[in-house]
Amino acid sequence: MSEPGPSPDEPAAVRAARSVSAGAARRAGAQDRDGGFPAEDVADLAALGLLAAPVPCDEGGAGLGEEKGAQDLAAVLRLVGAGSLALGRLYEGHVNALQLVARYGTPAQRRRLFADARAGHLFGVWNTEPSEGGLVLAGTGPILALSGEKTFASGAGFVTRALVTARRPGEAAPLMLVVPLEAGTRADLSAWRAHGMRASATGRLDFTGLTVMADAVLGGPDDYHRQPHFSGGAWRFAAVQLGGIEAVAEAWRGHLAGTGRGADPHQLARLGEGAIALEGARLWVAQAARVVAGEALPPERIVAYVNLARLAVERAGLDVLQLAQRSVGLQGFLREHPLERLSRDLATYLRQPAPDRALTGAAAEILAADATIGDLWRTEPEAAR
Ligand SMILES: Cc1cc2nc3c(=O)[nH]c(=O)nc-3n(C[C@H](O)[C@H](O)[C@H](O)COP(=O)(O)OP(=O)(O)OC[C@H]3O[C@@H](n4cnc5c(N)ncnc54)[C@H](O)[C@@H]3O)c2cc1C
Repeated sequence: MSEPGPSPDEPAAVRAARSVSAGAARRAGAQDRDGGFPAEDVADLAALGLLAAPVPCDEGGAGLGEEKGAQDLAAVLRLVGAGSLALGRLYEGHVNALQLVARYGTPAQRRRLFADARAGHLFGVWNTEPSEGGLVLAGTGPILALSGEKTFASGAGFVTRALVTARRPGEAAPLMLVVPLEAGTRADLSAWRAHGMRASATGRLDFTGLTVMADAVLGGPDDYHRQPHFSGGAWRFAAVQLGGIEAVAEAWRGHLAGTGRGADPHQLARLGEGAIALEGARLWVAQAARVVAGEALPPERIVAYVNLARLAVERAGLDVLQLAQRSVGLQGFLREHPLERLSRDLATYLRQPAPDRALTGAAAEILAADATIGDLWRTEPEAAR
């Protein structure tokens, strides 16, 4: 389950992610504390070109995440997540923001914001907000005023370009805007006393009193939720989770080898079950990346596929956690054991929005679809016949 060495023809972004991952894995233990943040790893992402890599090729970037770069993006997210799930979460938000800028930005916004990414700004996407007191955008002239908060905002206090959703007073459909923030201001991490993902700086941020220029607004009302990109984007967090599952499996395998307990048939059987779960997750992520990038299926079919993929990866993660903890036993719950933090981080990061709805929504699409069940997800031309 360890990474093979880099092959000479490996894309530069994947090679860079391997290097970032190794550094992140070394530092993750020290960052695992309330208020922790992987600042050196983010600096590595910048130095090795990964903050700029999602910029489209025709605008001077590496096009990581464009159709032909989808498998490379999957590999990068997996590798970064394997090094540190907190870093993987932050990087996934950065990639998501740049993809939204590429999709909805005007030429001038794209130029400006891609230049910011190249200059080392960390982006985040902050949609989650409290049921009362969410983000409101007021004003109609060249300067707009913000009030309200975002919650569960990863990188709060560290992200310097926040892509947020905000509502105009009395309107239900949110707008997207990119808000420049000063590092170290407005963030409140006091409520992030989490079981895992402590180093993700997932907190509240109060925007009240901030003003932005009107050209901070990206796209039109509800573009943020436009399908298949909104739900389809879940494949990216599944790719990061896959890296976290690999890290748990690696710690588990290392424990069995190191303690000489691996030859026991029960231990072998559990490891085999874990390998099936892990490989299943890998295949789901790779195919979900393909299905989203190819856009060959109807939007609702793409969404259904990605919903199944994210739940399959969640299931694989829960299975590997349980198998690893059973195999290693109490040692794996002691702080100095690598499995301890890796398990907490994975268990926390597996929590993603509305899993029940993802499952039943996918099932409803399967029920309503007119293709035979075996052809539902086929993207080759014969599926149309
Ligand atoms: C480490 C971490 C970092 C994050 N960073 C960000 C970020 O940067 N930006 C951001 O916007 N968000 C972020 N989030 C928040 C994230 O997007 C989700 O809001 C969060 O993960 C939802 O998890 P949940 O378990 O509370 O989901 P829920 O959707 O509340 O699910 C919990 C359970 O309730 C069920 N359920 C859901 N809705 C209903 C309902 N209406 N009625 C009955 N049952 C229901 C679900 O199926 C599930 O069983 C982050 C989350 C984590 C864990």
